[in-house]
Amino acid sequence: MTLTRKTTNLVPFVSVDNMMKLVNQVGAEPFMMAIADHIEEDFRRWPIFDKRARIASHSSDGAIELMPTSDGVAYSFKYVNGHPKNTKSGLQTVTAFGVLSDVDTGYPALITEMTILTALRTGAMSALAAKYLAPKSASVMAIIGNGAQSEFQVLAFRAIAGIDTVRLFDIDPEASRRCAANLAGAGLNAVICKTSQDAVEGAHIITTATADKQYATILTDNMIGEGVHINAVGGDCPGKTELHRDILLRSDIFVEFPPQTRIEGEIQQLAPDHPVTELWRVMNGEKPGRTSSSQITLFDSVGFAIEDFSALRYLSKLLETEPFYENLDMLADPDEPRDLFGMLLRAKGSANAA
Ligand code: NAD
Repeated sequence: MTLTRKTTNLVPFVSVDNMMKLVNQVGAEPFMMAIADHIEEDFRRWPIFDKRARIASHSSDGAIELMPTSDGVAYSFKYVNGHPKNTKSGLQTVTAFGVLSDVDTGYPALITEMTILTALRTGAMSALAAKYLAPKSASVMAIIGNGAQSEFQVLAFRAIAGIDTVRLFDIDPEASRRCAANLAGAGLNAVICKTSQDAVEGAHIITTATADKQYATILTDNMIGEGVHINAVGGDCPGKTELHRDILLRSDIFVEFPPQTRIEGEIQQLAPDHPVTELWRVMNGEKPGRTSSSQITLFDSVGFAIEDFSALRYLSKLLETEPFYENLDMLADPDEPRDLFGMLLRAKGSANAA
């Protein structure tokens, strides 16, 4: 990939406002389809990436995480938090920003908000996994937890996995009403349900996207019939899970990066050597995805750095034709590179002269 900087000292910055303009210009569904294509491309070249479990700083109410990776040409990292209590005081559970850099010079090439971009990439990743794992004829999805991620999830599954009906449940009925209202006009049948049991009735795909910092039980074993695909998004931190352990024991489990998922995913409830399949191996044809109509498949999603790298890679290309960014004066650029202090003195001189 090429990283183009407009000038040496200015770095393109995509604000929340510009991200919204960009997504509305492209359309949320085409945007997520393009991110999914970039994730698929990057997962197929998985071995070349520099990979590590994200670096997390945990507190009683949440986590702040750094997610770095590199393909040797570009480097990226995302700063992201997860604080389920935040919505009670009018703040987001998840906020993020990120950087894409040029490995050759080490210079940042792009800085961007990533709260919206994370919701888009998570929707794209979930639906991409379902393309390999969900029953081919899946048309009905249940989504439990109808917060910030929910509409992105639903639209990605419509665009990439072909669902036409979504069954909504949240412990806060207002969240389901808002989600259904936001999806009105999207050409989907959105049904608000009174219980999670009701929501999963007849669903081929079940997404859990709740936020609670505890070992929660959003789905119990009796709720899961044969042949279902589960997309477990909300269990993404030590001590924060959504599925009853018995469901895991009946499922074929697919993960992003095992060293991270074993710490953060649903599988933290299982033995450290419980067999799981890495999704990248399914995408490059090394391992099968769904093999039978009765199989229960589980994507134990926690969110991995390569997905953010792919989203940033797409964003960086998009900005070449859709210039929704401002330039930040981020990098010192003295005439003589070693004369950093001289640049400071000259700036003082010019300020005094003015
Ligand atoms: P949010 O706080 O905006 O929404 C969460 C919703 O879950 C709320 O509406 C809440 O009422 C509901 N909820 C909580 N407990 C519930 C329960 N027992 N049953 C039904 N509903 C319940 O959060 P968000 O930004 O939508 O994120 C959802 C989850 O997804 C979070 O846990 C977040 O950490 C996680 N997440 C994961 C990834 C990933 O890549 N796997 C990416 C982004 C966010």
